[in-house]
Amino acid sequence: MEGYCTPAHRGVPVAPAAGPMLPDNCFINLKGWSSNVPLVAEVYRDRFGNKSLLGGGYFIDWHGRGIVVDPGINFVDNFHRLGGHITRVDIVVVTHGHIDHAHDLGTILDLQREYNKLVGEGKIAGRPLNIIYLLDRDTYLRGQDQLLAHIPTDFQRELIANDRYDEHRILEGFGLRIKPFPTAHDERAMPNSVGLVMEFFPPGDPAAAPFTIGISSDTGLTDGVLGALGDCDAVVAHFNKTNAHDLLGTDPDRRHRHHLGYMGVRELFRSTRAGLCIAAEWSGEHGDIRFQVSELLKLELGRPDKAIIPAEIGLTFSIPGMRISCQACQGTVDPVDVTVARPQRPFGRIMYYCPACLGGTPHR
Ligand SMILES: [Zn+2]
Ligand SMILES: [Zn+2]
Ligand SMILES: [Zn+2]
Repeated sequence: MEGYCTPAHRGVPVAPAAGPMLPDNCFINLKGWSSNVPLVAEVYRDRFGNKSLLGGGYFIDWHGRGIVVDPGINFVDNFHRLGGHITRVDIVVVTHGHIDHAHDLGTILDLQREYNKLVGEGKIAGRPLNIIYLLDRDTYLRGQDQLLAHIPTDFQRELIANDRYDEHRILEGFGLRIKPFPTAHDERAMPNSVGLVMEFFPPGDPAAAPFTIGISSDTGLTDGVLGALGDCDAVVAHFNKTNAHDLLGTDPDRRHRHHLGYMGVRELFRSTRAGLCIAAEWSGEHGDIRFQVSELLKLELGRPDKAIIPAEIGLTFSIPGMRISCQACQGTVDPVDVTVARPQRPFGRIMYYCPACLGGTPHR
C-alpha cells in the first residue's frame, strides 16, 4: 500500500478544508482521454502545456453520498481540484482494470487507510470511513492480496454482470441500484469487464420511478450493450478508437470488436431513448476530433430533441434534471440548449455555456 500516494496526494490535508463545494445531486465527468493518450501527453506536454489530457473517472453525488466510477489516472488530483475529499467518497465502482479506469483505486484505498488511522489515533475528529468497493471480478481477484487487504470484506463485492445490486441494503438506503452488464473489450486479460446501469431514486423509496444513467465503459457494440442502455435517461458512451473506415461508414466489419468507435456510438445514440447522450473517453491517435465528430453525430442522427455532447473534464449535469452546468456563470442549462465551445487548440479544453452567457435568451 505504501507508495500508492504520490507526494502531491500527501500534501492534501487529511481533514476536509473549507473550499469549493461539489454540487449536490449531479454527475461530474473527471475523465480525460483513453489510456493510450497519457503516454502521448507526456511527449507533447511542452507543446500543449496542459494537464487536461490526463484524467479518469466519474463522480456522482446523490443526496450527499459520493459515488466514484472508474478512478483512472489523475482521478484523485482532478477530484481534489474540484473541491472533493476522501470523506466525500462512499462507493467506488470499477468496471475493468485498465489504467484509465483503475489506476487511482490504490490511491483512494491509501487515503482511506490514512484517514482512518488518524481517526483511530484521535488526531482528527470523526468516524472511520467505510467505503464500499464494487469491483469487476478481475480487479477484485487481483486486489485481494494487497489492495483490499485492509478493507473489511463486508465492504468489498464483486461486480458480476447481470447480477443485481439492489438487494444490497446499504445501496438501497442510499437511493441507488447498480446493474452491471457484460462488455466486449479485453477478453483475454479482462474477461469479466462490465458496463453499468445506475438507477437513482429518493433514498428509502425504492418503489419510486428511478432516474437511470447508463455507462457503456469500454466495449465493442453488442446486442447486450444496446439492450442494457436502451432504456436509460442519460447515456455515457466511450468512443475510444476510430479509423477512416469507421468514420466514413465503410468499415467492412461494421462494428469494432473492442471499442464503440464512431459507428458504435452512432448506433447506440440512435437506439437509446436517452435524451442526454454523452460521448466520453476519446482516443487521440487521429488528433482531437471530439468536437467535429459530435457535430457529425448530431447531423447524422437529426434528432434535435437529443443532446449529443462531447465530454470534457468538468462537464457536470444535474440528476434528475440533466441540466448542464454553465462554465461562465452559476447557472444550468437544458442539455439541448447548451453551447459546446470547441477547444481553442487541439487537446485543449471544451467549454459548456448557457444561452444567457452568450448573449442569448435567459435561463429557462
Ligand atoms: Zn478506457
Ligand atoms: Zn479499457
Ligand atoms: Zn451561463
